[in-house]
Amino acid sequence: MRLDLSQLHGQAKHYDRRFEPSAFDPQDEDYRVAAPVELSMDVEKAGGDAFRVTGHVTARLALQCGRCLEDFELPVDAQFELRYVPAIDTAVEPEREIAEDDLITAFYREGSLDVIDMLREQFQLALPMKPLCAEACRGLCPECGANLNRTDCGCTPKWEDPRLAVLKGLLKPEKEN
Ligand SMILES: [Zn+2]
Ligand SMILES: [Zn+2]
Repeated sequence: MRLDLSQLHGQAKHYDRRFEPSAFDPQDEDYRVAAPVELSMDVEKAGGDAFRVTGHVTARLALQCGRCLEDFELPVDAQFELRYVPAIDTAVEPEREIAEDDLITAFYREGSLDVIDMLREQFQLALPMKPLCAEACRGLCPECGANLNRTDCGCTPKWEDPRLAVLKGLLKPEKEN
């Protein structure tokens, strides 16, 4: 969806939109949109060619757990506020003065704002550094690859418990200065 900014005629406008997951095709590598996305936003002029966008988005993203490799869903409920200025057609984004109100600056092209791109940006910001289905996820057995959240495969792990290694270290005669 592209929002034609010239339609605002200098007035603030409120939008409520619902996007099916297919609106985000091709899907991002890091996640998949797993349910319809609800967006509520206000767009208003912010001086010159700039526009201010204040929005609220709710979504459910499917991510892959970094330990057990199963998919899990991440609920997203994010508020955002952006300043949109016209993009200058160069390969390199121009350096801009950041205004005093600390708003994040984004760019619109050809007089219209790409709403799907804006939402992708919000989803990226919502992603955890290390996606886990649960904090206590037990991951995969290093021997047989079984998902240890579901089964106890009974393999004897070859790795040494790091806590045990620490204890062994304590037992070694060591000179401390
Ligand atoms: Zn997991
Ligand atoms: Zn195993």
